[in-house]
Amino acid sequence: MTRAALAIDLGGTELRAAVVEANGHVAAFAATPTDAQGGPDAVIAQMVALLDRVRSEAPAAEIVGLGVGAPGPLDPDAGIVVDAPTLLGWRNVPLTSILSERLGLAVQLENDANAAALGEWRFGAGQGTQSMVFITVSTGVGGGVIVDGHLLHGRRGLAGEIGHMAVSEQPVRCSCGGLGCWEAFASGTALAREASKLVESGGAPEIGRLAGSEPVTGRHVAEAARQGDGPALKLLDDEARWLGVGLTNLLHLYSPERLILGGGVGSLLPMMQARIEGTIRERAMSAFRDVPVVAAALGRNAGLVGAASLMLQGSP
Ligand SMILES: [Zn+2]
Repeated sequence: MTRAALAIDLGGTELRAAVVEANGHVAAFAATPTDAQGGPDAVIAQMVALLDRVRSEAPAAEIVGLGVGAPGPLDPDAGIVVDAPTLLGWRNVPLTSILSERLGLAVQLENDANAAALGEWRFGAGQGTQSMVFITVSTGVGGGVIVDGHLLHGRRGLAGEIGHMAVSEQPVRCSCGGLGCWEAFASGTALAREASKLVESGGAPEIGRLAGSEPVTGRHVAEAARQGDGPALKLLDDEARWLGVGLTNLLHLYSPERLILGGGVGSLLPMMQARIEGTIRERAMSAFRDVPVVAAALGRNAGLVGAASLMLQGSP
């Protein structure tokens, strides 16, 4: 028997489950579109079905419990999903006790971005550090902060909402309702917004051609940039500068040994690295300028592996 934990990554569009062995290896995996309009009962039934499936695919695993990564805000100690904005009806759901009763297993809940940070720290690009910040840049900007060997939780487990640091007085509205948040300037949504503006004004014909009749996305910008398209390279340069601004704040706040960049936009790091590092050199105090910015190593598995590690290694 191999010691292992079950893991769930509850997303607004996709529900994912896995059996993860003690060394971080994903022994079985399954996913299904989340019944986001179905309410908690429907989604919990989906979870139980997916877990049955992965368990049957890894019969040699000795399961020690279930780790769940779910959208915040949530209370990891009480095991309650407080309010998941992308899931209908998910208010104050005592997910840990419900799943524990249904499965007969110990269950631990964690914010999905924190779970991904734990995964990268314990099994990915952050291995060997005592302090690191994981930043995921896709539709939004999220992350998790490990300081002195501990995951930073703060009051009600709400620490590490790094996407909502205010970085500008420009009145750009963020998805959270605030103004000038890092997410409003550096997310994939922001990159797509700036690219669409440029396409509409006639300033980015190649991006427009790639998008065709579809809405412009960060993917189109990346594709054009890979071909050396000037406007796309300029958009990525601006994106990298905004990333550098926020990363500089994170350096000053937490003094990590590494900054670890993941997510769809984060995966474009090779094309943005020079500008990100240049921005950090310009803006950070000298003692912080040599901290490496590295690519996340686990991709979309980070959250699952990190959630499982809550049961395999405990909550740090
Ligand atoms: Zn915000």
